[in-house]
Amino acid sequence: MEAPRLYSTKPAQSLKPSKKIPLEEDHGKASDALPLPLHLTNALFFTLFFSVVYFLLSRWREKIRTSTPLHVVTFSEIIAILSFLASFIYLLGFFGIDFVQSLVFQPSPDVWIAEDEEEDNEVLLAKEDARMVPCGQALDCSLPPLPPAAPIVTVQKVFDEKPVTVTTEEDEEIIKSVVAGTTPSYSLESKLGDCKRAAAIRREALQRLTGKSLSGLPLDGFDYESILGQCCEMPVGYVQIPVGIAGPLLVNGREYSVPMATTEGCLVASTNRGCKAIHLSGGATSVLLKDGMTRAPCVRFGTAKRAADLKLYLEDPDNFETLSVVFKRSSRFGRLQGIKCAIAGKNLYIRFTCSTGDAMGMNMVSKGVQNVLDFLQTDFPDMDVIGISGNFCSDKKPAAVNWIEGRGKSVVCEAIIKGDVVRKVLKTSVESLVELNMLKNLTGSAMAGALGGFNAHASNIVTAIYIATGQDPAQNVESSHCITMMEAVNEGKDLHISVTMPSIEVGTVGGGTQLASQSACLNLLGVKGASKETPGANSRMLATIVAGAVLAGELSLMSALAAGQLVKSHMKYNRSSKDVSKASS
Ligand code: ADP
Repeated sequence: MEAPRLYSTKPAQSLKPSKKIPLEEDHGKASDALPLPLHLTNALFFTLFFSVVYFLLSRWREKIRTSTPLHVVTFSEIIAILSFLASFIYLLGFFGIDFVQSLVFQPSPDVWIAEDEEEDNEVLLAKEDARMVPCGQALDCSLPPLPPAAPIVTVQKVFDEKPVTVTTEEDEEIIKSVVAGTTPSYSLESKLGDCKRAAAIRREALQRLTGKSLSGLPLDGFDYESILGQCCEMPVGYVQIPVGIAGPLLVNGREYSVPMATTEGCLVASTNRGCKAIHLSGGATSVLLKDGMTRAPCVRFGTAKRAADLKLYLEDPDNFETLSVVFKRSSRFGRLQGIKCAIAGKNLYIRFTCSTGDAMGMNMVSKGVQNVLDFLQTDFPDMDVIGISGNFCSDKKPAAVNWIEGRGKSVVCEAIIKGDVVRKVLKTSVESLVELNMLKNLTGSAMAGALGGFNAHASNIVTAIYIATGQDPAQNVESSHCITMMEAVNEGKDLHISVTMPSIEVGTVGGGTQLASQSACLNLLGVKGASKETPGANSRMLATIVAGAVLAGELSLMSALAAGQLVKSHMKYNRSSKDVSKASS
């Protein structure tokens, strides 16, 4: 059985009950003194207050006139004094205490810091992998604290569009307390236990605070419960991105309709054209070469010698079995594949690679790495863990280590595009494509000092598919590492094209993959959720599809460029200016 998750999803109600900054409603209010409508209670206490003041003053005057000692009080005077105190407290409470409370409970930056500091240090991992972070808690991705009560003035601002309708008086009170800063915006889900309502209230408070309308950003039509604890904190709506379909993409004998979420015109159409060229040429072949997610903590010792001792220990094949057993304690699916160390003086960077089933795997590998670090502490008590991620992993940053060693899925995908198809569908020639690829994708990128960028636009396709299928779009950085090769084959008649992508980081479980829209896109590809027969088969299949779609995208854009270049060159070198003007007319 899987050990408890470090970043488990917690029910909204259980989130930090002890640390709640109470809602305004949580405090007893002066107006709650009697179970009467507010105006009646107020009238009652006002009348009482002035009556007893009048009574006591007249009694006082009477005593002075009759030389009666002031401390000698009758029963009616005692009642009057008590009534005076009660009504005074009520009136002070009504007009004064809320004001005092709002000063006392104003959330200051310290409140956020205090909460942040109490988080488990695992939250630090969230820097690189937002999927690992639990929601509803104070995270270090928190927005700056709400400004003090002064901006309440903005409540008066008039919106150019109609603000979200506030349904109840209670909602209105909460919105006001969020605007005033007495209720932290991030705590709404846990306090209300209703994610949609929390989003609506936060949204309205935000509009009032900023004076800017959010009209156009939809609120309805989204399941806010589904993102709680894993996908997004402090939601105020959702962004709509159209999903287009490219395909059928024929890869390894199977057809796929590839969902692409994008707002870049032509991208889907172009990829679709590439799919057509591949299909007409008999399809592409996509091969998975490697499948291992990485995490590399940084540890420090007193001397470089000690750091080297640990490096030798970790890389000794005799110790691998032990480390592997320790590593897999926290997951059914995480299996250690290898450890590679890099040393910088007294500091050691340990790059763990592990298989992660159908999950993209950042959580899983981090948990396994933590197990090993805990275990190593016994034999290396002088080891100081600087951070569970030391950037030698390397997540969401361009890095040679991913380009060379791979991260996630390493895939190579190829196709032979028939000469006829190159001419009729892609409207170019094999020679032009080969030449353009050599000068642009290889030489041009070399001149630019590219790192994994030996392609035309792999990231376009990767990112569009990632967004559609609930992957982490920030991982497009290394997932788009790609070298596109083109060669004339079959005596120069046909085109051999390949894309080699060493770091495709995808999963079909966890993170955004479980959300309704993203899950539907995965379903379309036939890779939704965990593979029942072979854990990991779905995510590996997805990686091969991504590479196939990139192949299609490369083919089409390169053809467009080659054709454009050809037309221009043709016009420039092979036609007279007279012919050109004729052509244009
Ligand atoms: P990640 O490690 O990519 O961040 P999560 O930890 O969010 O992913 O999701 C993986 C979760 O899904 C784990 O709790 C794991 O036990 C569960 N799971 C169920 N089936 C599979 C599978 N076939 N492959 C990987 N994980 C699976």
